[in-house]
Amino acid sequence: MGMKYVLAIAGSDSSGGAGIQADIKTITTLGAHALTVITALTAQNSTGIAAIQRIPARFISHQVRTVVKDLRPHAIKVGMVATAAAVKTVASLIKRFKLFPLVIDPVLRASTGGRLLEAEGLSVLREQLLPLADVVTPNLIEASALSGRAIETVSDMEQAAKTLKEMGPNVVIKGGHLAGDCVDVLYDGSEIYHFRAERIRTDNTHGTGCVFSSALATSLALGYDMIESTRRAHDFTRVSIARGYPCGDGAGVTNPSVATVKA
Ligand code: PLP
Repeated sequence: MGMKYVLAIAGSDSSGGAGIQADIKTITTLGAHALTVITALTAQNSTGIAAIQRIPARFISHQVRTVVKDLRPHAIKVGMVATAAAVKTVASLIKRFKLFPLVIDPVLRASTGGRLLEAEGLSVLREQLLPLADVVTPNLIEASALSGRAIETVSDMEQAAKTLKEMGPNVVIKGGHLAGDCVDVLYDGSEIYHFRAERIRTDNTHGTGCVFSSALATSLALGYDMIESTRRAHDFTRVSIARGYPCGDGAGVTNPSVATVKA
């Protein structure tokens, strides 16, 4: 079996914990080759985002067209896309080059507070990008923004997953921000699946969402089905959090470079 290619379309995190840096580490650790199309550069450290340089939509397009002319990705993950125009461009590239299976991590804000997608981008993301996805992986805050529902319990997560499924994709809502055990909820249109683990008490969580969506995309590229890929992403993210370390004055980072996943 030859090397599998996973295309990450995402932003750069200069502190090295989240964004494309987390994507590359995750995809590499799981045994695939990361192709990287950068949508924005962030000047960022563990205490916050100082500035964002958004890459023009036409140069995002140039990167994708150049890569796919030569390398056919076996799965795609889309993370931070900063502007409505860039979201539109990414959606049209996905259709034109049939870039599937497609995992969308609907990145809206950094946990340190800065907005990563401009306000006008949310409706474009919902209307043009989500319907193309095989699976969307919001955290509680993103699931709430996309579904218009408050989420406070696992049962709220299930209801929000059903609402988001109406837009097309399978849905994994990540429960890391709820109290108690950490439960990720997958809804595939017919069944609800829970992936549950005891909460790890740590601040070393920067990059968690990026790690999860990249692990899911890589598992799909390696040929696992949606349920098994979600289990692997849950497992891999948990181990990355357990192996995380302090990094700077703010929250520490997850460590996907040394994580493993149970067979
Ligand atoms: N910076 C970039 C470039 C990202 O893509 C993301 C999340 O996807 C973040 C920061 C936010 O990471 P966190 O919410 O773990 O701080």
